[in-house]
Amino acid sequence: MLRFAVLLISCLLIGDICLDAQPQFELSRNVYRLPYLAGTTVTVNNDHNTHDPLGRYDLKGSGFGGDCSTNYPIVAAAEGVIRRIVDNHNVHGPDCSSNCTDYNNYVWIEHANGEWTKYSHMKYHSTTIDAGLSVGDQVCAGTFLGYECDIGQASGPHLHFEVRHPNNPANIQISTAGGFMSDADHRIPVINTISKHYLSDGDSWTASGSTACTSTDIAVVLTTTISSSGIRVYMASGTVTTLAGIGFTFQNGSNGLFQAGGSITLSPGFTASAGSYFETRIGSCATTNMTGTCN
Ligand SMILES: [Zn+2]
Repeated sequence: MLRFAVLLISCLLIGDICLDAQPQFELSRNVYRLPYLAGTTVTVNNDHNTHDPLGRYDLKGSGFGGDCSTNYPIVAAAEGVIRRIVDNHNVHGPDCSSNCTDYNNYVWIEHANGEWTKYSHMKYHSTTIDAGLSVGDQVCAGTFLGYECDIGQASGPHLHFEVRHPNNPANIQISTAGGFMSDADHRIPVINTISKHYLSDGDSWTASGSTACTSTDIAVVLTTTISSSGIRVYMASGTVTTLAGIGFTFQNGSNGLFQAGGSITLSPGFTASAGSYFETRIGSCATTNMTGTCN
């Protein structure tokens, strides 16, 4: 059982000046894995700052494969329930001339803490037939969802991935054509097994199904300033500690998360400024469960 302690230092001022300084996107409350079969090399082609529209990700598998073949299985990023499936389209991006988003194949999963993930452009019938999934099915982190492809609005085979937090859970708004969610914030997925724990354009990581932390104890020993729109995430199975007098600072507009299985110690010299989103969490590095039936 996780004990979950949250310290959220957000805006201490009232009004537009402070709101403008806050990060455009918050880090996810849930811990996710890379949404590819373990062992796949995953390249980030667009991140929350470079994707059009912003807040979303384009990922691509490599290392052992062809295009739209069975080489890059897409998997659920955390435990949840399948809420939408469209996989009956078979128009490849390069062959599409108009209204291409109408041909997107996609899956939406609802997770813990009111967060949802979307997986798009997957191969024709690979979700309902190859993966045998239906709306309402419960999935675990790592459950096969379908194969990477280029169906719909896609310039080449890749996975479009996004984490959203609907503003009104009683009125989820997702368009049937394209699978676009409206009235929802974007969130930056916290990923357990990659060293910096978030995704940036140009990154290349190896997908893993591990639930273990990559670090045991982390001691922050360098003087560091995380400036506006910067992100720093530390996750450890044991402790995260800032040393006294080092001057570690999260400035306005930055995102920070320290998560540890044991304890987190913030020493004099550590500062999280008004307008930053900084949290500490006590918990494991496992992906976040929704009902706890997966592991
Ligand atoms: Zn995309």
